[in-house]
This record gives sequence, structure tokens and C-alpha cells, in this order.
Amino acid sequence: MAELIDGKVVAESVVEKVKQLTAELTSRHGVTPGLAVVIVGEDPASQVYVSSKGKKAKECGFNSFQHTLDASTSEETLLKLIGDLNADSSVHGILVQLPLPDHIDAGKIIQAIAPEKDVDGFHFINVGKLGTGELDTAFVPCTPAGSMLLIERVRGKDLSGLNAVVVGRSNIVGKPMANLLLAANCTVTIAHSRTKDLPGLCRTADILVAAVGRPEMIKCDWVKPGATVIDVGINRIPAPEKGEGKSRLVGDVDFAGAEKAAGAITPVPGGVGPMTIALLMANTLVSASRAAGVERPS
Ligand code: NDP
Repeated sequence: MAELIDGKVVAESVVEKVKQLTAELTSRHGVTPGLAVVIVGEDPASQVYVSSKGKKAKECGFNSFQHTLDASTSEETLLKLIGDLNADSSVHGILVQLPLPDHIDAGKIIQAIAPEKDVDGFHFINVGKLGTGELDTAFVPCTPAGSMLLIERVRGKDLSGLNAVVVGRSNIVGKPMANLLLAANCTVTIAHSRTKDLPGLCRTADILVAAVGRPEMIKCDWVKPGATVIDVGINRIPAPEKGEGKSRLVGDVDFAGAEKAAGAITPVPGGVGPMTIALLMANTLVSASRAAGVERPS
């Protein structure tokens, strides 16, 4: 049976370190990290995410600023708010919760965030830095950065020569994940919906990352014996066994099967999920430290 990679435990250790370094930053340099989260509209899932980010920020000792805007807010008004937050020295991280309403160009909004406050790592400057291996000054998107920490827990920091397959090529997970693995000297293949013989390709992976959004798509016999399997997927499926109308969360990997073949595997929930928010806190602390002229915390 595979080793279970407990994302909750690793995320908690990241948050503890963030708390400790935040206390030091505040007491020695008089700087308190500030995280501004902007939400437009009333998408229930987004509201849950935003509220948990705010809570975690406060737990870390940050100032948390939440801007809740009506769904009818114009692009111009949102751009003005981003401009104000860019100029506000008490704000070190700006996060605009996606998705945005259709009348707002999400790309334009993201590119309006000052790259040095782009703690989500979606601005072209940060994407470019990651793509060119400038990891010391880039903000790396939180989900792949968190996944990388989980991989390092199992495999160590030196992943030289390992074959990594990332299934999914989104800008927020698949591509940055592949770049991180490449920077760690893996031989990386990115798979997507047009990939031929996906099961065969997955079987070549020493490290297999699933970021697809298809419940339990990756089966036991797609997993190379001993592989490290990172399941980024979060899918809600019906669970009639729990009662009528009930549901449960599953990943993109058929966990019950894959844990028999894998060397180590993340569960869903409790794997990658908790890492994403922990890395958001870490990125915000890094931003505040940079603004205070303090060396980047490791
Ligand atoms: P996207 O929908 O943006 O991307 C999905 C990718 O999967 C695409 O590249 C798509 O290929 C590929 N894909 C779809 N179907 C197949 C298939 N049958 N075979 C091979 N590849 C396929 O999703 P995201 O990257 O945003 O998210 C992926 C998953 O991760 C989702 O379940 C999401 O909920 C979860 N997630 C979890 C987070 C966390 O904190 N744990 C954070 C962010 C996301 P193509 O490009 O060809 O269409």
C-alpha cells in the first residue's frame, strides 16, 4: 500500500512557519503583511474560498482586507480598485477571486495587479520568471507550489532524472507544475485532452500529477509501481450511500485502485487542497518581507 501524503499536516507546518516569521517581521521591522482579497458577485463556492483565505490570513497575523463587489460592478470600477490596492503600502498581496462575471475581462484584471503583489502568480511577469527559471524572484501559483512541497516531502529536493507526467495544461495548475518539475531537473511530459495513449504515458511516470477535473479518471493500471501520485483534482460526485441528494469529493485519480500501485499518494480531500491556501500565506509573507527589505524567508 502506498504511503499517504498528508497535505493537512504539511500545510499546517507551512502555516506555523509563516506565523513565526510574520511575528518576527512585525516585531523587528514594524511590517504586518496585508492580504487583499477581491470578490465580485455571489458565487457560493467563491464566497467559501474567500472567507477561508481571510480567516487563515488573520490566523497568520496578517491584516486581511476583503472587498466584496456587486455582480454588476463594471470593469472600470474593478480596475480602479486594483490601482488603489497597488498603491496602498499596507497591502502586500492582491488576490482577485475567479471566476469573474462575464462582462469583466479576467485577463485584463490580472495583468493590472502589480507583479510584486501578485501572490497568485498569474501575472505575465511572474509566469515569465517561472518559465525562465527565475524562481527566487517569481511568485509561483499556489496549487503547483504546494504540490511541489508534497513531492519534495517524499522524494527530497533533488528530482534529477525522474520522469514526471503532468495531466492537464491549464495556466493555473498544469503548466506551472510542469515548469516547477522541469526546474527540479525532472524529464517532464504534459498531457492533455488530445494526448494519445494516456494510460501508457502515465505508466512511464515516476511522478504523476493529475490536474484534469474528471472524477477518478486515472486508474490503478495507469500508475507505475512505486510512483508518487499527486491528485490536484477536486470533483463533487453524487453519494447516494450517504443519503438522498448527498455528495462527496473525489480527485482525478481512482484512489482505492491507485494506492495499491503507487509508492506515495495524496488523498482527496486532505492532500493538495490545504496546501493551496498555505502557499498563499507564504507568498504574502514573502511579498511583505521584500517590501520591508528583509531577505526572502525560505
Ligand atoms: P482546467 O479545466 O483549466 O484544465 C483541465 C485540463 O485537463 C486541460 O488541460 C484539459 O485538456 C485536460 N483534460 C480534460 N479532459 C482530459 C482527458 N480526458 N484526458 C486528458 N486530459 C484532459 O482545470 P484546472 O487546471 O483549473 O483544474 C484541474 C482540477 O484541479 C480541477 O478538478 C480543479 O477543481 C482542481 N483544482 C484544485 C485546486 C486545489 O487547490 N487543490 C486548485 C485549482 C484546481 P485541454 O487543454 O486539451 O482541454
